[in-house]
Amino acid sequence: MSDELLHPDNALELVLSVPVHVGTELVPVTEAVGRVLPAPVLSPLDSPPFEKALMDGYAVRSADAGTAFRIVEVIAAGNTPRHKIGAGECAKIMTGAMMPEGADKVVRVEYTREEDGMMTLQRAEPGNNVLHKAENLKRGTSVIAPGILRTADIAVLASLGMDQVEVAVRPVVGVLTTGSELKRPGEPLEPGQIYNSNSYQMVAQAKSAGARAIDYGIVPDDKAATRDAIARAFSECDVVLLSGGVSMGDFDFVPSVLQELGVTTRFYKVRVKPGKPTLFGEREADGRRGYVFGLPGNPVSSYVIFELFVRPFLYHLAGHRYRPLMCRGVLAQEVARTDAERVEYRPARMEGARVIPLAYHGSSHLNALSGAQCLFKMDEGVHILEAESEIDVRQL
Ligand code: AMP
Ligand code: MG
Repeated sequence: MSDELLHPDNALELVLSVPVHVGTELVPVTEAVGRVLPAPVLSPLDSPPFEKALMDGYAVRSADAGTAFRIVEVIAAGNTPRHKIGAGECAKIMTGAMMPEGADKVVRVEYTREEDGMMTLQRAEPGNNVLHKAENLKRGTSVIAPGILRTADIAVLASLGMDQVEVAVRPVVGVLTTGSELKRPGEPLEPGQIYNSNSYQMVAQAKSAGARAIDYGIVPDDKAATRDAIARAFSECDVVLLSGGVSMGDFDFVPSVLQELGVTTRFYKVRVKPGKPTLFGEREADGRRGYVFGLPGNPVSSYVIFELFVRPFLYHLAGHRYRPLMCRGVLAQEVARTDAERVEYRPARMEGARVIPLAYHGSSHLNALSGAQCLFKMDEGVHILEAESEIDVRQL
């Protein structure tokens, strides 16, 4: 096992270099938001599928120079027109209805008067107010690009008559937290104990990254218990996500247990703050390949490390190259540090384009994160970011 501190860029590169085979499955569109679309969706139909009125009004021939028109029928949305519109004729038509043959324009109802089966123009109608067949989308063309399905995509799929969509199979993540000091929320705390928050955090993060999460709960700092729990998670999951027990303490059993289970460690320490003791490894057993992340126990560290490495990895397993949403902002106050040996990420909130660093006391200060909207970075060697300087921030 190498003790070398890896640059976070290299750690990410390593994580994203593992070979993947992405399986796909059909899911109902109602369940598809957040899932990874592996191939473009081609439209099975024209949109709209017919010439469509965009206003409530009267369908006329635009070449017709007259001002009085005989109403030959009323066309509601969903109806099929029965008459062809000739000179001096019109059809009363509703928004969304199919245009009658011969007509190529809708005069909005506000510009007309209707009396005794006749429509009289009160004002010239400047627009045509017709959406042409296939104007929005032609059958056979690509309508949704591969990537994460977003809410608007779900509507697009439904609009094309699709009730199912083929998506990448979700990676299965087994979440396991180590620590004899941990209690489940809902139980009373004894002296020296704290509540387990990391499991909840990691399950929520894994789900938000399109994965299926299995929570294996708390494992006490006991070597045999740790080994059994990790072995079980490996047998049931693609990725084992551990928190705690990865550093140098007397009861940090994770590295040695992983070694006993035949895990090849790809990295063990990253030049990042928070989250230096971060482990990534892989294991081939019983014909299946599994991966493991050992995240630091401190909640802010495990949160940040998940965002930096685990989220991109889970999307990678689903065949998607994740790119965090970056934006540029103006730092509201100076940020200084004495130790600039590591790349550091700090939480901030945003007010418009202003980046306001959160009062943050270190990696156990979890509640500081609840107001965090973004992370900003201090590179290696950077001691000060000046107030009013422009910085890139990573949206959470
Ligand atoms: P460790 O990495 O196991 O040395 O843990 C580092 C710190 O994080 C300790 O203060 C732990 O009590 C705390 N910690 C570990 N696991 C959790 C957890 N699941 N939830 C909240 N805090 C934790
Ligand atoms: Mg521990």
